[in-house]
Amino acid sequence: MADITEIKDEKPAAGAGAGPEASNGSHRTAAHTHIKGLGLDGTGVAKAVEGGFVGQVEAREACGVIVDLIKAKKMSGKAILLAGGPSTGKTALALAISQELGPKVPFCPVVGSELYSVEVKKTEALMENFRRAIGLRIKETKEVYEGEVTELTPEDAENPLGGYGKTISHVVVGLKSAKGTKTLRLDPTIYESIQREKVQVGDVIYIESNTGAVKRVGRSDAYATEYDLETEEYVPLPKGEVHKKKEIVQDVTLYDLDLANSRPQGGQDVVSMMGQLMKPKKTEITEKLRLEVNKVVAKYIDQGVAELVPGVLFIDEVNMLDIEIFTYLNRALESNIAPVVVLASNRGMTTVRGTEDVVSPHGVPPDLIDRLLIVRTLPYTRDEIRSITERRAKVENLDVSPETLDLLADLAMQTSLRYVLQLLSPAGILAQTLGRQQIIPTDVEEAKSLFLDAKTSTQVLQASANYL
Ligand code: ATP
Repeated sequence: MADITEIKDEKPAAGAGAGPEASNGSHRTAAHTHIKGLGLDGTGVAKAVEGGFVGQVEAREACGVIVDLIKAKKMSGKAILLAGGPSTGKTALALAISQELGPKVPFCPVVGSELYSVEVKKTEALMENFRRAIGLRIKETKEVYEGEVTELTPEDAENPLGGYGKTISHVVVGLKSAKGTKTLRLDPTIYESIQREKVQVGDVIYIESNTGAVKRVGRSDAYATEYDLETEEYVPLPKGEVHKKKEIVQDVTLYDLDLANSRPQGGQDVVSMMGQLMKPKKTEITEKLRLEVNKVVAKYIDQGVAELVPGVLFIDEVNMLDIEIFTYLNRALESNIAPVVVLASNRGMTTVRGTEDVVSPHGVPPDLIDRLLIVRTLPYTRDEIRSITERRAKVENLDVSPETLDLLADLAMQTSLRYVLQLLSPAGILAQTLGRQQIIPTDVEEAKSLFLDAKTSTQVLQASANYL
């Protein structure tokens, strides 16, 4: 962890800040990049095509009401069930709910069957996903030092690893500005960036106290810029101060913090926990550790440094959960830091897993059914499917001819929307190999012969079983 130590008072500055670990569901949400919200107007009415959505109007409006309930804090202890056939947009709706709740609200998608593994207890796996769906927004004040370099003196020190000879552990930098001269002792990480930027005496530099990164270096105002994390642009930095304070907002999930703390070097404050995020996994996350993390988080919330951002936990194929997980889920919903839980099912009446004879809608036990707001998703028309496919092609930067879109829409009616959307990329590659930009029907035919849909695949297997 890079840090700046002022020689004068020897007080270390705040720790490093790495970004949140990539959500486990990021690869899954890729199929929904065209979804930008529920696409409702100010009165909660859905336009047929809006927010990336096509159709499914009633379900979108119902989800809009749910978003209002969540915002009014009237959903505690309750959950949502999206019921409808495959590829009817259940995942897309759940994602849109999280988007409507605000920017950077976590969305954690999981499939019921994923909770079962040999290594992790199923209730542990559920808890892990709960915590992936709870965000923490940390507001940190960073100091940006600015000034002209007056000296650059490497300081020798014992090699901390006890190797041969001596090694540079610090560099002393004198910074002159309108408010006077300040002497900073920079650690090796910062020294590396000083070398990389070829800083010399007389240069104007900017150093962030937290990451220690040298942002931009130059001799004139033309270079007097810094990287703004929010807008991702270089913006001019006002000159003439020894340092200025800058508020940095970082979004992490409780799971990120659990993970960071499960490593041996984990510190006790949130910031140093986050500094550990880039290092490899070491030890297990235990319930005791989660309680510790909760304690620290509560302290930061009390101090106004952080705020909780409950996100959305989406559990697809809810009928795969068993009675034990349901009991745990019921209890977890009661917690005051629960995320919004959205379940999805394409089943009707089914026996609840882990019971002999409890038959219930969607395989969800009656006590949980009582807590659910149920929203139905309906099958799409051919035109809606055509339009969704067209939209997906656009975000994937694929040029699809109109007759190919017709062919894909027909194909989706016989197979599924998901299958057709999955054919887009391979068809694009086939077109490219033949030196074409546009995807035409023969590309789809070829992609179709290479990749079977679920129904055909089952038929092929059955046929070969008969043959054997
Ligand atoms: P499953 O039950 O099989 O998990 P699902 O109901 O969750 O399916 P999605 O994964 O949301 O279905 O939808 C399949 C694909 O179609 C996704 O890429 C999704 O973004 C897109 N999609 C579904 N419905 C719509 C819609 N109404 N408008 C635009 N895109 C949609």
